[in-house]
Amino acid sequence: MEHVSSNWVPIRKPHNCWGCTTETKPPEKMMRVTEADGPKIYSVYWCEKCNAFLNNNPDLFGPDDGFCYGEVGQMISEVES
Ligand SMILES: [Zn+2]
Repeated sequence: MEHVSSNWVPIRKPHNCWGCTTETKPPEKMMRVTEADGPKIYSVYWCEKCNAFLNNNPDLFGPDDGFCYGEVGQMISEVES
């Protein structure tokens, strides 16, 4: 798995955040992370909240660890409760 790019993009249709599964609607911006898995290229979207959480907690995951869908949202609610 190879990281290709990540940048804030104004979304044109609703996307569910990979981290917390919350739907974000246009014209909000989301962090689009593009990765390559061999010949396959795919993108996932992160909401602002998950992105900030990951930036604030860089020790929770190593750079090569993946996330399960919704996993970050669970961690956020654990931290906040
Ligand atoms: Zn999120």
